[in-house]
Amino acid sequence: MLSNEETVDIVIVGAGVIGVATAYYLQKNNPSKKILLVDRYLAAGQANTAMSAAAVRNMFASSTNQLLTDTSIKYFEHVQNEIGYDLMFEKTGYLWLLSEEQFSHESVKLWIKRMKESNISCKVYDKKQLKELIPNLNVDFTGDDEAELMNLQEVSYGLFGADCGVLDPTRLVEYYLEGFVKISKVKPRYGVDVQTLIVEANPPLELPGEPFVWQKKHVVGVRTNKGDIRAETVVLATGAWANELLDPIGIDSLTKAKKRQIFVLHAADKAELLEVLNTKGFSEMDSIPFTILPSAGVYFRPQHQEKGFWIGCGDKFGREYKYIQTDEDLVPESAYYEDSIYPVLSKYFPAFTDARPVNSWAGGYSYAPDRIPFVYKKSGVLVVGGASGSGIMKADALARIADALYRGESEAELFGGKTMPSTALGLKNRKVEVESVII
Ligand SMILES: Cc1cc2nc3c(=O)[nH]c(=O)nc-3n(C[C@H](O)[C@H](O)[C@H](O)COP(=O)(O)OP(=O)(O)OC[C@H]3O[C@@H](n4cnc5c(N)ncnc54)[C@H](O)[C@@H]3O)c2cc1C
Repeated sequence: MLSNEETVDIVIVGAGVIGVATAYYLQKNNPSKKILLVDRYLAAGQANTAMSAAAVRNMFASSTNQLLTDTSIKYFEHVQNEIGYDLMFEKTGYLWLLSEEQFSHESVKLWIKRMKESNISCKVYDKKQLKELIPNLNVDFTGDDEAELMNLQEVSYGLFGADCGVLDPTRLVEYYLEGFVKISKVKPRYGVDVQTLIVEANPPLELPGEPFVWQKKHVVGVRTNKGDIRAETVVLATGAWANELLDPIGIDSLTKAKKRQIFVLHAADKAELLEVLNTKGFSEMDSIPFTILPSAGVYFRPQHQEKGFWIGCGDKFGREYKYIQTDEDLVPESAYYEDSIYPVLSKYFPAFTDARPVNSWAGGYSYAPDRIPFVYKKSGVLVVGGASGSGIMKADALARIADALYRGESEAELFGGKTMPSTALGLKNRKVEVESVII
């Protein structure tokens, strides 16, 4: 139990992957500080981090997202291969299946050009090569009235990124959390629901009714269901709930939530599906890559531990944005799989015919307007969020930037020695390009 009021140097609200990674770097680089990590769930990494497909890619169009992901993924590889902490990171690669029209679109040309300029591994496969590698892939919709009715675009090309893959988000959370707990002076606390940020006059004049508009103000802590916690800095890593705490104090997070779902299919009893899962030729590990279909936003992740696939869909128009994620967003819709995803999936990959989910879950993305995350400090609050559906793959870099900003460093050093201005992801004067490659 918390005492009715206590004081720490930094309180971090949100123990998702971004909160735990931030806690780790803050404590590592500010060893004398008393840092308290809190979450309203009963353990770390239980919200959207646990709902994630946990795929990681450096194949972005903006140099900002390229840098955030490329350095984070290299760090994850380092953790697994050099430090020896198994994140279950598998370099399956990413495969974008594209129609002729998509492949020749200006935005795709620019995307490929920018990846080449940044030395991001990407290889183009033509239809014939794809068919040889994945015999089950349907690349010919000629005379298929259903495919026409469903607006399905025929596959002509594949864009493959070899340095991408999948990992286990729980292992990643545990890695940072264990690192933080080892060096922290205070144990993380769960079941702590932050209800408001406490704003006070700076300096206080002890007048009734302050702060007044003419006074300077700052956030001095958080009010929770277990009492107040005062802190010199409040770090908000509250993902798709950011608006809940920021709007009431007049900070516009500029982020919106959107529901996303995952459906699990097992392949063990279906030879054709197993063959797709164990596709040879893309990577050393004989696996179909994380694959994005040309139409409707449908994608799948290979899941070798359970001999199956995780299927998702990044639908855009027609799927509402929300102010914050709600409980309804945690409920997967079986009809969404049956009527929306399945018809598309089984057209491109007939091996999925009759495949039905054995499990499913849902959560939310926290979208930033330009699909680039936010890291900023304002009046005593340091906000890290707006990961736009790719917070796992950017977590390491975002946490390092948050720490650099806290320490007042102008540049954040990312893994491998590359740097980024610590204010580049600010609310104002952002030094970022708009991201066009979002799933
Ligand atoms: C279906 C789906 C698929 C995805 N696939 C991928 C993928 O393949 N790759 C990828 O990189 N990303 C993916 N994502 C996105 C990824 O999951 C998120 O970007 C990432 O988890 C964000 O981390 P976070 O720490 O900000 O959020 P969260 O894990 O949601 O953590 C936020 C925490 O804040 C806590 N919190 C919020 N408000 C309060 C409060 N008032 N008081 C106390 N605690 C509070 C919550 O309880 C929660 O634990 C996917 C997301 C979904 C939903």
